[in-house]
Amino acid sequence: MKIDGKAISAQIRAEIGRDCEAFVKANGFRPALTVVIVGEDPASQVYVRNKAKACEEVGFASEVCRLPKETTQEELVALIDRLNGDPGVHGILVQLPLPKHLNETEILLRINPNKDVDAFHPYNVGKLMIGNPTFLPCTPAGVMELLRRSGIDPAGKRCVVVGRSNIVGKPMALLLLAANGTVTVCHSRTKNLAAVTREADILVVAVGRAKFITAEMVKPGAVVIDVGMDRDENGKLCGDVDFAAVESIASAITPVPGGVGPMTITMLLQNTLKAAER
Ligand code: NAP
Repeated sequence: MKIDGKAISAQIRAEIGRDCEAFVKANGFRPALTVVIVGEDPASQVYVRNKAKACEEVGFASEVCRLPKETTQEELVALIDRLNGDPGVHGILVQLPLPKHLNETEILLRINPNKDVDAFHPYNVGKLMIGNPTFLPCTPAGVMELLRRSGIDPAGKRCVVVGRSNIVGKPMALLLLAANGTVTVCHSRTKNLAAVTREADILVVAVGRAKFITAEMVKPGAVVIDVGMDRDENGKLCGDVDFAAVESIASAITPVPGGVGPMTITMLLQNTLKAAER
């Protein structure tokens, strides 16, 4: 089975749109997201545009604060403080990566945790760790939602996550654990990776290397979730999993594009609605 992230995402966005209208009726204002972008990184520009467009589609208010690449730490902190104190702003997202001269950790710490719709603030990371999250990190939350809506329950399953980044691998492992999976996390120092991945009933891959997971690394009947967004030898968008080879082995698999990708912004919308409700 191919897990259709585009269709599932469209379904959830329609639900959020309905919830948004009910929210506006009850409260008299729209959920509002402010996205901050510093500099002209082309990929970041596309992401920010897509986030603003998605907000519009579900009926949220959105604002993009575009700052020049020379912006100082003090200027950015002052903007975050202003947004923190603005009751008309419910969600704040600082598009990463920031230019190198800026201190990313300090900026993420500065965002009011109640407006931290990316869930990158250490307070929200800690809440996730102890099993009492307010906001869920968007990409791993998107994976959980894909599983849930495809009727796949991690409870009691062997779950293997390849990758241990703060934005995908680690929170992914925590969410699978919270859903009662038996979780193993792999990384670049894992020995005999294929032997570990072959044990997975649910294999989630977030490595950032095109077609890294081959057919020999997957147990027949496994569920394979591909978070990767890479370029193949022809410059075409592809994932971390060799989809053509693994599709026939897996019981369910996400394609790239059209799998996890569309879910990330959808979960951002969900967090923004939650922030407004709070
Ligand atoms: P990252 O920060 O670069 O982390 C990559 C992880 O993969 C690291 O933990 C690294 O291990 C591990 N790794 C690297 N080489 C490996 C190897 N040979 N064997 C086993 N593990 C290996 O990347 P990320 O931010 O998590 O992103 C991963 C991928 O997901 C990228 O393609 C990215 O574009 C994509 N992504 C997609 C979305 C989406 O919305 N769909 C969102 C975020 C990211 P070490 O820790 O040991 O270095």
